Amino acid sequence: MTTGTTSEQLPIALRTEALEQLLTERGLLDPATMDGIITTYETSVGPLNGAKVVARAWTDPEYRSRLLEDGTAAIKELGFSGPQGEHIVVVENTPATHHVVVCTLCSCYPWPVLGLPPSWYKDPAYRSRVVKEPRTVLREMGLDLDGSVQITVHDSTSEVRWLVLPERPTGTEDLSEEELVPLVTRDSMVGVAKVAAP
Ligand code: FE
Repeated sequence: MTTGTTSEQLPIALRTEALEQLLTERGLLDPATMDGIITTYETSVGPLNGAKVVARAWTDPEYRSRLLEDGTAAIKELGFSGPQGEHIVVVENTPATHHVVVCTLCSCYPWPVLGLPPSWYKDPAYRSRVVKEPRTVLREMGLDLDGSVQITVHDSTSEVRWLVLPERPTGTEDLSEEELVPLVTRDSMVGVAKVAAP
């Protein structure tokens, strides 16, 4: 599941493994079920779901309103729901306001729309620094925001998962919903990137 383990992550990986083994031994956890869930979210569910939500919101103003009002329900309209997506709140990026998502405690993430979180999202450095110095962290990740842009950092928890509705890039006015979908990246829906025009 992980792509390369750093020495910093190793104790957590070992602890996780020990915990999984203990729960399995006590009959509290079925490893086959665990593997099934992980495979599903690695291969079948991913950021493409979120991209469909964003493209719909960009092309259907009424859907956009519903999405910002009740993210969970509007996302379910497109057929996406399930574990770690019981309460999704959607926030909209504009030229003046930028939203970025983190889980300071662990790696809470809206699985039904984004799949499993990338390793940088779980990195202790990202989790602690993006709260204290979001502008610097975003710049390091390649997103240089103007000083006038207000940045809001949202802390995902087990209760609330956040999804960013990125800005529709200029020059895409003539594109259809289907043509917009492939432009929407995972990082833009976490708020660490913008969507680029084709
Ligand atoms: Fe978490």
